[in-house]
Amino acid sequence: MHVVICGGGVIGACTALFLARRGIEVTVVERCEVASSASGKAGGFLALDWCAGSPLDALARRSFALHAELRDELGGDWGYQRMTAYSGLIVGERAYAGGRRDWLSESVVIRGQLSTPATTAIVHPRSFTQGLMREAEQLGARLRVGQVTGIAGNDASVDGVVVDGEPLRADAVVIAMGPWSLRAAQWLRLPLVFGQQSPSLVYDTGKDVPAEALFLDDPDDLSLGTLEVFPRADGSTHVTAFSVPAPLPLDPAAVAPDPEALARLQSICERLSPAFRAERIIARQCCFRPVTQDGLPLIGKVGGRERAYVATGHNVWGILNAPATGEALAELIADGAATTTDLAPFDPARLRPLDPTSICIG
Ligand SMILES: Cc1cc2nc3c(=O)[nH]c(=O)nc-3n(C[C@H](O)[C@H](O)[C@H](O)COP(=O)(O)OP(=O)(O)OC[C@H]3O[C@@H](n4cnc5c(N)ncnc54)[C@H](O)[C@@H]3O)c2cc1C
Repeated sequence: MHVVICGGGVIGACTALFLARRGIEVTVVERCEVASSASGKAGGFLALDWCAGSPLDALARRSFALHAELRDELGGDWGYQRMTAYSGLIVGERAYAGGRRDWLSESVVIRGQLSTPATTAIVHPRSFTQGLMREAEQLGARLRVGQVTGIAGNDASVDGVVVDGEPLRADAVVIAMGPWSLRAAQWLRLPLVFGQQSPSLVYDTGKDVPAEALFLDDPDDLSLGTLEVFPRADGSTHVTAFSVPAPLPLDPAAVAPDPEALARLQSICERLSPAFRAERIIARQCCFRPVTQDGLPLIGKVGGRERAYVATGHNVWGILNAPATGEALAELIADGAATTTDLAPFDPARLRPLDPTSICIG
């Protein structure tokens, strides 16, 4: 069996690894480079039970366990680290009850502890995604740099993809192109997937920032959303906040941050701590997370065509939920059913497919 995975983000890489572990021949087709989009620019924060009460709960719990297992089994050098998370407020001059942190300015008040290291952790998402792809390659998976431009087959079934105009035969095809999976709705019966952009800054903070994730709100600026501060094992700290209403470029390599959004984020960071001085910025970036109409991912068979599968729409939890997605999808493709995680809540058939003639791309 030869499976072609379209897209070398964290979902494609995890799916490749779990298929390759079963001895299945895998080719990942990636238009740019592995982890070049959201999977390389995300925060990398992981939580065991923050999806409790939602259909994502079982997927998140299984994924959280798999992240720890993968680090142990593969000796991964992607900065897996357990951490505590706190919530807080950006209060300016006003007095609010709460704790302080030496490294933070007076304008930040810690209001509550959200988790312990038993339930939250972090990885460096680019290193994680690239590390898993490397592991898959060591088990025989191939990485092909190219653009998937179509699906081959007939009305009932797919038998490959078209890469840069050339056919590539496959017994099964997985669409894992993040927000660009929308493109595949021209070829297959897929519901809407869109991209939501957020800016982020990465600072070289060394040991100045403790291993504590912060979720900060500003009562005077609700448009900020929640500012997320994620210190990582390599001494960098990733900061992100608010969504930017920006169109998704056709070419993933053309994604460019909005200078005004970055300037706004930078000025907020400078109010928070001297650790966030401008000269410490090592990355100014943005990325698009893949989102569906009901906020849940699409994981499973694509209706109407045999041997076609999709795994996308993981929204804000793609780094967390990639391992259990890859594991369950590998089971579905190889055995005909997923056993480790129930994929029923993520069945693409729950949402109305787009009319391919209504999609105008490029
Ligand atoms: C600012 C920010 C912070 C985040 N923080 C977290 C976090 O802390 N924890 C968490 O769990 N999640 C987080 N996320 C969410 C997470 O980043 C995404 O859900 C996840 O990376 C999506 O992975 P993906 O593989 O589906 O898509 P992507 O990473 O977008 O990968 C898709 C790949 O497909 C390729 N591609 C596109 N079109 C084609 C084509 N035609 N042919 C071949 N290849 C193609 C692209 O080049 C790309 O590499 C964050 C997201 C953002 C934006």
